[in-house]
Amino acid sequence: VLDGTPKKIIKLSTAVINKIAAGEIIHRPASAVKELIENSLDAEAKKISITVKEGGVKALQVQDTGNGIRKEDLSIVCKRFTTSKLREFEDLRRIRTFGFRGEALASISHVSHLSITTRTRTEQCAYKAFYCDGHLTSPQPGLSVEPVPFIGPYQIFLKVEDLFYNMDTRRKTLKSSNEEYLKIHTVVCNYSINFPQVSFTLKKFGEAAADYRTPADSTSRSNIKAIYGQKVEAELLEIEQLEESLELGIVGLISNANFSLKRGVFVLFINGRLLECPAIRKAIDNVYSAHLPKHAHSFCYLSLTMNPANVDVNVHPTKNEVHFLHANRIIEVVQETTRARLLAESSSRTFYSQV
Ligand code: ADP
Ligand code: MG
Repeated sequence: VLDGTPKKIIKLSTAVINKIAAGEIIHRPASAVKELIENSLDAEAKKISITVKEGGVKALQVQDTGNGIRKEDLSIVCKRFTTSKLREFEDLRRIRTFGFRGEALASISHVSHLSITTRTRTEQCAYKAFYCDGHLTSPQPGLSVEPVPFIGPYQIFLKVEDLFYNMDTRRKTLKSSNEEYLKIHTVVCNYSINFPQVSFTLKKFGEAAADYRTPADSTSRSNIKAIYGQKVEAELLEIEQLEESLELGIVGLISNANFSLKRGVFVLFINGRLLECPAIRKAIDNVYSAHLPKHAHSFCYLSLTMNPANVDVNVHPTKNEVHFLHANRIIEVVQETTRARLLAESSSRTFYSQV
């Protein structure tokens, strides 16, 4: 009722606060996969396997060969703001891990049924724990909430079931299982391009063959070939550039000026983070527009490294956006590097075609 009087202010309950926060971080199955892959990479995993059921809504399982979680931490690992990666706010200036806020597992436990089975190198056995709303929970009424010992290898299994079971609207806005699976596929492929030393496997529950699999100690180029085919791979130019004054490193693989795709591919990592950066994308599109016909697009994978002290990673709940110092200069350098690479290649081509 609009009666012109101010409404009473109340404090939201913790349950409501946590659910709101969870919804900001976990938008869809692919965002949960992103968080879980980042955790596996932070745990130094050499092998990460992802198994998906019904587009990740029914079940999502991530298994990795990283360091695992200590048994004594299992009771707090899914509470909000519990992390092994950050101690002081100032540490963010040097942060080299993906995680730092301790919110991902908490968020997932607020919007799904989560279980973790983990065995560290020093433990005699694995332990399995079930979570609900940040807390340990019992797998069945009447059973203890304490983690149960399990015979298992030095691995961690995180199983996320019934995603958004308690968020009706969110569940309804998801796309079909196939489309959600494709989004997961893209996330896994993108990480495999930037982390070719790690073996990634993606498959559907109940299927023996993987839809996507990379060997450990692969290369970005060979993983791109596995995803996009040899036709694309054969057209890629390597970029490698160091700009010391900006503490900026650029490596990448980009399509040459005589090649185009109907749908563009733009994969950007900054300090190992998969990011959206419309300004850089626009700058690159701009370079290609001088070479490509209208409605034709390029393939572009770029991995930028900057001094972590110049990058603010704490600007977005999903961390898919960062702010960095000297942004305009950096974007210019990335653009010029790309332009120069395309030109160098086309002039050498001209040269060869004249021979
Ligand atoms: P953050 O990554 O910001 O620390 P998360 O909620 O994603 O927060 O994870 C909480 C903690 O759980 C991490 O700090 C880490 O210690 C532990 N953890 C999560 N996933 C894994 C994993 N796959 N292997 C080992 N430890 C993990
Ligand atoms: Mg994390």
